[in-house]
Amino acid sequence: MGRSAKLYPVEPLIPAGSKLPPMSARKLILLTLAYNVGEGAIALFAAIAAGSVALAAFGADSYLEVAAASVVLWRLGVRGKNAERMEEFTERFIGVTFLLLATAILFQGSYSLSRSDGAEESAVGILLAITSLVVMPGIAIWKLKLAARNNIRSLASEAKETLACSYLSLTLLVGLVANALLGWWWLDPVTALLLLPWLVREGLERVRPDDDNDDEPEPRLCACRSCSYGVRRCYASCCSGVAV
Ligand SMILES: [Zn+2]
Ligand SMILES: [Zn+2]
Repeated sequence: MGRSAKLYPVEPLIPAGSKLPPMSARKLILLTLAYNVGEGAIALFAAIAAGSVALAAFGADSYLEVAAASVVLWRLGVRGKNAERMEEFTERFIGVTFLLLATAILFQGSYSLSRSDGAEESAVGILLAITSLVVMPGIAIWKLKLAARNNIRSLASEAKETLACSYLSLTLLVGLVANALLGWWWLDPVTALLLLPWLVREGLERVRPDDDNDDEPEPRLCACRSCSYGVRRCYASCCSGVAV
């Protein structure tokens, strides 16, 4: 481990001797795709029914995740020499979707706040947000663990986007309920805007061209509890000696 850790898995994606069935990562991505296509459609219909900008934005976010997951699905099928180039492309693409998500949240948040119009009451919206909150974090952590085990950065990045989607489900849910019970229409846009710094940082990290530390091997991905399954840099004993 450590010095010999490669930046990208160039040869077999799933190393020999791995206990994971080779299809696992792909199946999780397919699940993400199917779920987000459905979630997006329901959210957009509910948005039109309730006249809710918050729900419309939530639906649009689902399709950004569909785009990211599709590219990762494509990348998982690429092996051999092209895998590294494809991995770089996928990372950049996901970086762009992070920035687009940030732009959408900024636009929606400022629009809602300027119009004094937050998450509208919507039973479908509340049910959808609850379902996403139950389903998405589990899928995200599962993908982060697979990504760490096989050292696939793009899969970890896509998993982080799934986590962002879970967070947005939470702000939507809290916002919808707070508006229905207390009339706090501003809670959803304000809590969603709190995600912006993280989204922008994650996006820029991937979109910017590499700095000149190419000879330095990047630390292997980690997905233990102390790094929140790979969301933060790992300083636990599992990664000591590799941490920069
Ligand atoms: Zn860790
Ligand atoms: Zn670690």
